[in-house]
Amino acid sequence: MANKVRVRFAPSPTGGLHLGGVRTVLFNYLFAKKHQGDFIVRVEDTDQTRWVDGAEKYIFDCLDWCGLVPDESVIHGGPYTPYRQSERKPIYRQYAEQLIQQGNAYYAFDTSAELEAMREKLKAAGSNSLQYDHHIRMSMNNSLRLLPEETKALIDAGTPYVIRIKVNSNELIPFSDMIRGEMEFDTNTVDDKVLLKADGMPTYHLAVVIDDYLMKISHAFRGEEWLPSAPVHILLWKYLFGLDQMPHWAHLPLILKPDGNGKLSKRDGDRLGFPVYAMDWIDPTSKEVTKGFKELGFLPEAFINLLAVLGWNDGTEQEVFSLEELIEKFSIEKVHKGGAKFDFEKAKWFNQEWIKKLPIENYKERVKEIFLSKGVSNIDDNYLGEVMNLIKERCIVLPDFYTQGLYFFDSPSSYDEASVKPKWDEAKKEYFNSLIDQLNQLESWDAISIETIFKQIATEKNSKVGELQMMLRVFLVGSKMGPGLFIIAETIGKINTLQRIENALKVFGA
Ligand code: GLU
Repeated sequence: MANKVRVRFAPSPTGGLHLGGVRTVLFNYLFAKKHQGDFIVRVEDTDQTRWVDGAEKYIFDCLDWCGLVPDESVIHGGPYTPYRQSERKPIYRQYAEQLIQQGNAYYAFDTSAELEAMREKLKAAGSNSLQYDHHIRMSMNNSLRLLPEETKALIDAGTPYVIRIKVNSNELIPFSDMIRGEMEFDTNTVDDKVLLKADGMPTYHLAVVIDDYLMKISHAFRGEEWLPSAPVHILLWKYLFGLDQMPHWAHLPLILKPDGNGKLSKRDGDRLGFPVYAMDWIDPTSKEVTKGFKELGFLPEAFINLLAVLGWNDGTEQEVFSLEELIEKFSIEKVHKGGAKFDFEKAKWFNQEWIKKLPIENYKERVKEIFLSKGVSNIDDNYLGEVMNLIKERCIVLPDFYTQGLYFFDSPSSYDEASVKPKWDEAKKEYFNSLIDQLNQLESWDAISIETIFKQIATEKNSKVGELQMMLRVFLVGSKMGPGLFIIAETIGKINTLQRIENALKVFGA
């Protein structure tokens, strides 16, 4: 690649980031890093009516959590500052004016009532398109139809206007997409999009092209939902800067509902009980919380991994990839054309794999916070680490460390009585009383010594080891879950073990 690779993620701050958004970030990031390029985050906030308080911060917090650090952005600075389009407002007008001079754009003075009347007329005439385009532009209130002096008079009088692109009819626009290959757009289906609004703000269409040009973007990767806008962008490139300056494009496939039936939406998540946002998003007006992967207890490594393989693989059977491996192996051409079905069970599998794979130090703080938030205090870091190592194989999401590990911190508050009671008798009671005596005298408190004594007494008393083990487990844990029984006893320590057996005897002993 001759020129430096420069890619951008260009979010509009309208709310939380869903899976598709973060995957777009990730693919941009991977491509940039793979080619020693720059990853830019540009905030596209020109549509002030859709601007949502807190959304921009959320986006950067999200990137931070995922570890996808931009090289240039609103926060990170860079040579093309400002990176927020609303702050670049003065830049855009001259390009819109240039398009008018060239005959590729025009002033349109139509009021909303006039636009509405146009649509009504088209509807009544049975037209299947209600667009402002070559069919109707010459019957509207714009500088193509008005005389130059009429246009000037309107502008001088301060009449509000927008600037629209003039899309020629009957043209085929060839277009090459890195994922989809060669395509063609028919300009007859493209409307004369507004480029500059009455308040002087550019629309997304104008701003995206100008900024991609000014920021020297070499590759533009974005969601498939932007494909219908591509012809307008290509025309703008052609009219303003020349097609040879245009970035290479790739439109990323949609992330689909689990049954493959259409685009995955926030509502599907609510309906099926899984998050589609990266982190919790709190709507600033309604205060409604949309759940996120982070708060559910996903690790960023797993989140990145599961996103990467939604619509991409390296051509082998490998599924678990670290960010470094992804940078090495990623290629945009290997991204699938078709949509990728989201499978929450598979997403959890990735998290489980990463919980097992990573050193617990990577996520210990978060687990500690979960314990603290549930009211378990006085947590010793080393002890927590020991516990986490014992149970990590059993955890799918981080809060599982609490449900799987609470008994290491607190005595059971109830017992699986249904398992113990039917098998309980005087002999068992005697057994556990002897066990208490002998364990009391045990000098070295380790799993092997505890097990030896446990079995020795069982043999002396001719009791079934399996049943006794199940009972001791219920006494120490409350239920039949958990790792090796004697390891549990060793970990919780002598005092706790003896205390818990005594407590249980009070419940079952009678
Ligand atoms: N601002 C657009 C969005 O909200 C970005 C589309 C693009 O990357 O060109 O997603």
